[in-house]
Amino acid sequence: MKINVSSCVYNPDKVTYDQPVSIASPLLKENSRDLNCKDLIAYPPFINSHDHLISNWHPKASESQPYKNVNLWVEGMKATPSFMERNKVWINDGSFDLTIGTAPLIIKLGIFKNMFSGCAVVQDHIRKQKPEYYQGNPITILEDYTQCHSVSMGNWWGGKTAVEEWYDAHGKMPFVIHLAEGTDDAARTCFPKVVRMNLLQPNTLLIHAIALNKTDLKRCADEGTSICWCPESNLFLIGETLDIYTCMELGANVVIGTDSPMSGSINMLAELKFAHEHFPDIPMNEMFRMITTNAAKALFLPEGTATLGKDNQDILLIKKYSDYPFDNLLKLNINDIQFFMHKGIPVCGESSFLDHFEIDRDNYYFFDTNSEHRFAFGRPDKVIAQIDDLLGYHKDFPFLPF
Ligand SMILES: [Zn+2]
Repeated sequence: MKINVSSCVYNPDKVTYDQPVSIASPLLKENSRDLNCKDLIAYPPFINSHDHLISNWHPKASESQPYKNVNLWVEGMKATPSFMERNKVWINDGSFDLTIGTAPLIIKLGIFKNMFSGCAVVQDHIRKQKPEYYQGNPITILEDYTQCHSVSMGNWWGGKTAVEEWYDAHGKMPFVIHLAEGTDDAARTCFPKVVRMNLLQPNTLLIHAIALNKTDLKRCADEGTSICWCPESNLFLIGETLDIYTCMELGANVVIGTDSPMSGSINMLAELKFAHEHFPDIPMNEMFRMITTNAAKALFLPEGTATLGKDNQDILLIKKYSDYPFDNLLKLNINDIQFFMHKGIPVCGESSFLDHFEIDRDNYYFFDTNSEHRFAFGRPDKVIAQIDDLLGYHKDFPFLPF
């Protein structure tokens, strides 16, 4: 099926104008005809390289920031109203098995946050979960990874030591670890430790890396180690963030993560706006590279992920507010995503698109916003109803469109 769009972003370096883009899905009706969407821009879906799905709660859980290092926040957050409100739905029993009890409700909330902001893949930083955790979701939770919580706190939420976890990745999947999330000596001494453990490797993804200096960042770039930038979370909790301009100058593979909304932005669209406001000299196609091809490289995703080509099964069609598609990203809210398809399944958007697909309507939630009729795959309405039941009142989340 061909869709005539205003422009089509194939990758950070290739944009076509007034050319059709093709989509493919086993669910497409046989008689489907070309669609005219001249007010829309086509993009590959985004990748969120750092989130904690179990912490998808709102508002931010902090009252005495900025902190010298994140370990102080991890303790301090437990007394905040946001943390205590989430406790009404799910209490951390220390097992970190997020497939049991009420944990899946908050995990799904996090999945929907990512889905509604156009992310097809999310790296959920947590100890490895049971296989079912990674199956049957509207978007992909990266399953093939190894991890350690952090250099400073070790794998307190479960898993082996950092070195053992890195070894288990066999260089074929990312090894993810928080690093240097702070500005004090405790944060600064993390980098030499990583070097000594021989973890500065092409399959290592360092999260935050706030305290790294230019020499440290050059070593990361030289070794091919990827770095995940979470500007809103960093500037909120710590008051500093990664030296992003130096990273770009050195050619380091930088990706972007929202972190959870208990410390970071409400979603990837907000993260892009925040990053641009604070770092306006980063060209927007470079920012787009960080949430697409750089992320696909860092997370060892299959060839072709995060780019468009022929017969796309993964695609975003988004309202056009700017002629330059990369600047357009700065104008967006969740309701501007008119169509999002992942693995050939329409996952959210404006309902008229579903006329072209054979779908089971019971799997979808339909709702109205701003005079538009919209759909969402995976029944987020049921998840919210269960959360409301546990809370005893209705709670609105800014990352949901209803
Ligand atoms: Zn994190």
